[in-house]
Amino acid sequence: MKTEKSKKLFEESVNVLPGGVSSPVRAYKPYPFFATKAKGSKIYDVDENEYIDYCLAYGPIIFGHANDKIINSSVEQLKLGTDYGVPSEKEIILAKEVIKRVPCAEMVRFTNSGTEATMSAIRLARGITGREKIIKFEGAYHGAHDSVLVKSGSGAAGKPDSPGVPEQATINTILVPYNNPDAVEEVIKENKDEIACIIVEPVMGNIGCVPPKEGFHKFLREITEENGIIFIFDEVITGFRLSPGGAQEYYGIVPDLVTFGKILGGGFPIGAIAGKKEYMEQFTPSGTIYQAGTFSGNPMSINAGITAMEILNKNFYKDLHDKGEYLRHGIKDILSKLDLNYQVNGVESMTQVYFTDKEVYDYDTAQKADSEGFLKYFHKLLENGVFIAPSQYECAFLSNQHSIEDIDKTLDAIEIALKEL
Ligand SMILES: *Cc1c(COP(=O)(O)O)cnc(C)c1O
Repeated sequence: MKTEKSKKLFEESVNVLPGGVSSPVRAYKPYPFFATKAKGSKIYDVDENEYIDYCLAYGPIIFGHANDKIINSSVEQLKLGTDYGVPSEKEIILAKEVIKRVPCAEMVRFTNSGTEATMSAIRLARGITGREKIIKFEGAYHGAHDSVLVKSGSGAAGKPDSPGVPEQATINTILVPYNNPDAVEEVIKENKDEIACIIVEPVMGNIGCVPPKEGFHKFLREITEENGIIFIFDEVITGFRLSPGGAQEYYGIVPDLVTFGKILGGGFPIGAIAGKKEYMEQFTPSGTIYQAGTFSGNPMSINAGITAMEILNKNFYKDLHDKGEYLRHGIKDILSKLDLNYQVNGVESMTQVYFTDKEVYDYDTAQKADSEGFLKYFHKLLENGVFIAPSQYECAFLSNQHSIEDIDKTLDAIEIALKEL
């Protein structure tokens, strides 16, 4: 496989972009491929290689790259302006659509990224309750802002993951293992009347793919209710992916607040916070809890979001979910043929293979998987025309544009890759 041009661009890019990339997950050794275009289920690089894409920009592209409907509506919007700095009717249309679909949503505040959404949702929870502590789960990713940049640790308030995050910023962030009701209960007891919110990824999508155990979210819903704690679903990945109303519709759980990003923008940058009216109205200007953004609710993202919602109707999901099952069955068949005991985790169109023979249900169990081996597997897949995210701790996504033929080709590549490891 030729990758000379990517290599050259990378050598140039490291001089002008830290690490050669605009977001760290994109860097892998020896150098990432540089994209020129993407269409449907495929992405292409400067050396004219074609890959079946399961990274899908880390989640947003559920309707395939360069979707015709999105292109057409975006071109029309482009002619009408790209940012107004005053309200426009389309914000109401998209907000109403979110409210119609998402059980907990009574009002919506748009942001430009998932990071801003979770940052503001946590501020809202702290402002409403007058409490400072928050509970997050080990290995959960809620964006790149200070108070959630803590992963490791056990039960106690954690140390920041990154230099530059003051300890003061994370001192109120309490970590608990996912899928572990006892740990949550203990922390709430120890910090009675001090916890503002629990923020959770309904399906963990940033340590591979870890589904909730039966009853876990119901437990969280009940214990937060009993203790006056605001329950936040971070649906930046699961929103509009697991069902038209996201994970809360899928699992039948109604949190107090929800955050969105990724899919909601129809391929453009976006984020949103939604929830009960009595809470949402506490954001400025109707309330006092500050939240703002120059590009928030910009017509390009909002317009593409409306088009995305038209595409993502009820009929969209059945076929997509069948493809997820098909992919996972195919992988399991290969694994048993090769006598490998690896774990295949997944929910609908989210999938990850863990290089371990032990069940993966939280951060610690995910850490036990062979991430070096996974990287070799990643490179073998790339050589065979399949692009997954370059880490054991990301998730493979499907779009409705992935054909059965694409998936069959992918399974062939997976078999070759696993045999050659
Ligand atoms: C991607 C992600 C975020 C951050 O969203 P950005 O748009 O990258 O800022 C937050 N939460 C979860 C669960 C995510 O996967």
